[in-house]
This record gives sequence, structure tokens and C-alpha cells, in this order.
Amino acid sequence: MPETIDEQQPGFDGLVPSDKQRISREAVIEAGLRYLRESGTDSICKVCISHAGSCCIDCLHLQDRVGCQRRNTGCTAWLCGFHNFLLYELDQLEAWNRFWDEVPGQDYRTDETPAFLYMSRSLSAPDFRLVSEAFASDLEELAVKHVALGFIFTLREKLDKQVERAALYRDDPRYSTEINRRIQELSYPFYRFRAALHDYRLRAADRDGA
Ligand code: SF4
Ligand code: SF4
Repeated sequence: MPETIDEQQPGFDGLVPSDKQRISREAVIEAGLRYLRESGTDSICKVCISHAGSCCIDCLHLQDRVGCQRRNTGCTAWLCGFHNFLLYELDQLEAWNRFWDEVPGQDYRTDETPAFLYMSRSLSAPDFRLVSEAFASDLEELAVKHVALGFIFTLREKLDKQVERAALYRDDPRYSTEINRRIQELSYPFYRFRAALHDYRLRAADRDGA
């Protein structure tokens, strides 16, 4: 259970761990949205939505042509298979998950996150907009080629499953080789993405070595 404190809840005794910052629920949501916005993942959403893959379908909080009317920590923290895969390949997934592990009350399409909480971590996205946009272009090309209903959903679920397995069996070579091979197979048609990811990794290595 993450250690968080709601000052409005009975039992809060005024003691705040020194390594934590007070932050509002709204600021936590905004930090997540800013990360996704600045890293260009909305370009993937645009393609996904235009090919009927939206994860918000049938949600009561979705207003047609306007968007979500009730942003919550649960939906902000949740990553679909495409975003999960993207952050996994960029080595950003653990940092994302560690940040959200500190946020209590997340639920399906809603939350019970307190108005204020205390967190030790923050979120900042490295610049991988070009990688996101390359992925979105590949996805658009694939979706146009594969018009069968459910293509986007099936591909997303397959990527999600393998990324989840990769996290689960990270330290087990009996499975990790096979899982990585499966991920490579699934991502093979994403050629713009793979080129952009290669460039990103080279730039990151240069930066780290500088
Ligand atoms: S499923 Fe993923 S890519 Fe599609 S709209 Fe939702 S978050 Fe965006
Ligand atoms: S509550 Fe979640 S699923 Fe519903 S519209 Fe908002 S972001 Fe989409």
C-alpha cells in the first residue's frame, strides 16, 4: 500500500515524511496528462480513435466531440497496449509505474484518490515525440491495410500481453528470450518507429556519455 496522507481524512496527525511533497489530486492528473502531451502520445490516440479503437468507448464521462468530462487518476495512470509498448521500448515504463504506484484510489474509469496526497516522485518525460509520431504513422498504415473490425484492438492487446509478460519474467531467461522474440515479431511492421527508436537511443547514449 503506498504511503499517502489525506489531510481531510480523520486520523491525519500532521506528521509529513520529510522526503515527500504535498500535491493535489488535480496536480497529479495534470502531471500525467502533461507527460503524455509533451511526449506526443496523442498522435497515437488520434490514429487509434479514427480507426474505432478508442479506450473511452461507451464511457458515461465521454462527451461527443469534446472529450472526457471527468478526468481521474485511474484513467490517467492506465496505459493501453500501444503506450505500454512505447514506454517499455523507451525504458520509461518503470518510472511511469513507480510514480503512479504512489497514488492511491485509482479505479476503472474513476478514482477515490484523496484531494491531497504526499509523494516522493515526480514525472518528467524525455523528448520522444518523434518516436511517438513514427509509431502513429506506422499504425495508420497498418490500420488502412487491415480493415477487419477489431484489428487495432487485437494488435493492442497482443502488445500489452507481451509487455506485461516481459515485466513479469524480466529476470527469468527461460521466458525472457522468447518474450523478446515475440515483441520483435509484433513490432516488425513498425519500421518508422524502429528507425526513430534507434535514433533516440543513439542520442540518449551520446547524451549519457557526454
Ligand atoms: S487505446 Fe490507447 S491509443 Fe487508443 S485512444 Fe486509448 S490511450 Fe489512445
Ligand atoms: S473517464 Fe476515462 S474512459 Fe471515461 S472518457 Fe474519461 S478518460 Fe475516457
